[in-house]
Amino acid sequence: MMKPEPQSTSIVQADLIVCQECDALVSMPYEALNEGNSMSCPRCAGHLIKHYRNRLLPSLFISLSGLFLFFPANFLPVMSLSVLGNSGQNTMVKGVYQLAVDGYWWMAFLVLFCSVLVPGLKFLLVFIISLKAYFKIWGRPLIHALKLYQKIEVWGMLDVYLIAILLSYIKMTDMGDLILDVGLFCFIVFLLLDVLVTTRFEPGAIWRQIDIEGKGWSQLNRK
Ligand SMILES: [Zn+2]
Repeated sequence: MMKPEPQSTSIVQADLIVCQECDALVSMPYEALNEGNSMSCPRCAGHLIKHYRNRLLPSLFISLSGLFLFFPANFLPVMSLSVLGNSGQNTMVKGVYQLAVDGYWWMAFLVLFCSVLVPGLKFLLVFIISLKAYFKIWGRPLIHALKLYQKIEVWGMLDVYLIAILLSYIKMTDMGDLILDVGLFCFIVFLLLDVLVTTRFEPGAIWRQIDIEGKGWSQLNRK
C-alpha cells in the first residue's frame, strides 16, 4: 500500500499572472518579477511585466494630479443659474448639504461618501503607496494602506454623480440662464483621473514586491 505523500510546506516560489491580451494563465517564478526584469506571454508575446519602478511613476503622477484637483472639483461652482435676475451657484459640496437640509440624509451621506470622500482617499492612498514602493519604504503602514485601498476601491461612484449633474442640467435649461462653470470641468478631469488610476495602479505588483523583498506581514510582525 502506498503511503500518502506529505503535503508540501515550502514557500510558494511562483505566482500566476493573467495575460491582459489573451487571458493565458502564466506561472511566473518570483525571480522573474525582480526589478529590471520583463517577461512576455508564451502564447501571444504580450507584455506581462514591465520594469517595476517605471510602472509606479504613472500612478504617482496621476494620483498627485487627482489630489490637486480634489478641492477645485468639489468646492468650485459647477453651474450658475440665473432666473428673473436672481442668480445662484452650485458646488458639489453644496449639493450634498442641500440634500441633507431637504431631509434626504441617507442620500446626502451616500453622495458624500461615494463621490467625495472615497475618490479623495483613493488618490491619497495611491500616492502614499506608490511613493513608499518607489523608494522601497516597506513596512506595516504600507501593508495597511494597500488593504484599505482594496477595501474602499469598489465604493467610488463619481460617474453616477456626473450623470446626475448632466440630467439636472438638461432639466434646468428651460428654467433660466444656465452656465456650466469651471468646477464641472475640474470634476470631469477628476473623474477621468479616477478611471486612469483604477486601471493603471496594480496593488498585486506591490504585494509581490513586498514578498520578493522578504518583508511580508509575518516577518514584519516578528520584529
Ligand atoms: Zn497572452
